[in-house]
Amino acid sequence: MTYTDISNEIRKDLNIVIPIKQILLGEGVAQKAKQLCTDFGKLHLICDENTKDFVQLDCGKTILSATQKPTLAKAQELAQIEADCFVAVGSGSLNDMVKYAAFLAGKPYVVFTSALSMNGYASANVSLLPPQGLKKSYLARAPQAIFMDLEILAAAPKRLRNAGIGDSICRATVQADCLLAHKLIGEPSYSEYFTLMQRYENEMFESVEALARTLIFSGVAMLLGGSSAPASGGEHMLAHYMELHQPDAPQSFHGEHIAVTTIAMAKIQLEKLQSNFDVGAMQKFPNLKPQKIMAKDFTKIITGHSQIEAKLKSVGAPTCPRDIGWNEDIFARALVDAKTTRDRLTFLDVT
Ligand SMILES: [Zn+2]
Repeated sequence: MTYTDISNEIRKDLNIVIPIKQILLGEGVAQKAKQLCTDFGKLHLICDENTKDFVQLDCGKTILSATQKPTLAKAQELAQIEADCFVAVGSGSLNDMVKYAAFLAGKPYVVFTSALSMNGYASANVSLLPPQGLKKSYLARAPQAIFMDLEILAAAPKRLRNAGIGDSICRATVQADCLLAHKLIGEPSYSEYFTLMQRYENEMFESVEALARTLIFSGVAMLLGGSSAPASGGEHMLAHYMELHQPDAPQSFHGEHIAVTTIAMAKIQLEKLQSNFDVGAMQKFPNLKPQKIMAKDFTKIITGHSQIEAKLKSVGAPTCPRDIGWNEDIFARALVDAKTTRDRLTFLDVT
């Protein structure tokens, strides 16, 4: 059994104490569950039909249906369970429901990750379905500990891992959007977080360990940045627009959406930087500091869209709207109108 605490790596690199006490990554982590959870008092484990055998703990257990939607109502129901600490065993939706339940109950929670499908393990936010309408982001609290068992993660379906790659590959387009917003309206550039996120990026296509680190670093960047900005730029707005305007699209993962929209966003960024764009037209931002944007400031960040596409194709991830059942005409509208989905300056605002 060999594992490392990657929270130490984060502390050392960023010279900052993070509120997550342990982030263990390695082999045999799940088998050590009893030992790892001794300090958390009376536990209650929440898993689903697919993850119920991953972690053995002598405590109360709730097994959710594998098709349980991440609803606010379910999180509120879970918050009523009597325990000192919740133990989530799962990924995206389950982790979000338990994270929010723990937050509502004012209790700590820890998570044993079952798949590398998204970057939300280390973040403080969750995405849940309110009684009416589409998913909404709610502020909760980061887990006390994240336990990542490499054998479990490696055995998870490849499609989930590709979704995690999609949610990570946007680092370059997000970084370029952040730099633009930094120059024009003085938003933080988050450069130290991007350096961390980039460290294992080239290896994440082949290595489960590298992908796990990249996703954790991305979640930590959102946690420390107090905002989704270091992990969500124009490509996330394009995806959000599609979710709003084609809600009946076939079921697919968030990271798969981001894989597709990152290619489009990288193309937009390159075209805009080559076109001497007009900053004065971006009047929706009252604190705009008009200045000349130099393409050379972005050369180290911008990654060619064909390069991104080739990397995604090499692992079998989706690369175009058709691959995930998105309507091409609605997607063409998204490229123009997605800038209205939130108040965040990105290259989508450039005319
Ligand atoms: Zn994302």
